[in-house]
Amino acid sequence: MTTFVLATANPHKTEEIRAVLGDLGVTLLARPDDVPDVEESESTLQGNALLKARALVEATGVAAIADDTGLFVEALGGRPGVLSARYAREGATYEENVAKLLEELAGVAAPERGAAFRTVIAVAYPSGESLWVEGVLEGRIAVAGRGANGFGYDPVFEPNDGAGRTLAEFSTDEKNATSHRARALRALAAALAS
Ligand code: IMP
Repeated sequence: MTTFVLATANPHKTEEIRAVLGDLGVTLLARPDDVPDVEESESTLQGNALLKARALVEATGVAAIADDTGLFVEALGGRPGVLSARYAREGATYEENVAKLLEELAGVAAPERGAAFRTVIAVAYPSGESLWVEGVLEGRIAVAGRGANGFGYDPVFEPNDGAGRTLAEFSTDEKNATSHRARALRALAAALAS
């Protein structure tokens, strides 16, 4: 049976990972408290996810799973992308990031407001081998925030097949079934099973 240590310290993400990978018969360990965060210094989601997974393998000697997510907005040439968490400034709140996004897109017409959430999940093994998978959710950026569920950019992201609702207007179950993270996790389950 394969054992993996998870890079995320976020209990919600941990639960989501367990729900999808649980059936594969793998053992998932929480990240040890004494392993410090890695600075996400790479310019791609893959680079950062692999960086985090490899650092964890080095610290624990156990195969590791790490993820990285970004919002890529077409009219902004793909920004905020890998910098989504610190778009407005280092340590920005979700509200500050959303406000900056709406400000930058002011005057941009609906057809030009296309965007996608991308999640990359990387696995690194003590042997030095690694793999990564991606999950994408396509949609557009609303002109103003709507909805109270979720987090981050959810209030301004309208998935293409969401009947005009933002992700913050989706129920938690519905979001967890269709999100970029869920898609990446299903791709990971398929990769690990093959
Ligand atoms: P992380 O790599 O999962 O930490 O995501 C980086 C940033 O992307 C977060 O700080 C959020 O701003 C944004 N983000 C990630 N996932 C979501 C989501 O499901 N909804 C809205 N925003 C998200």
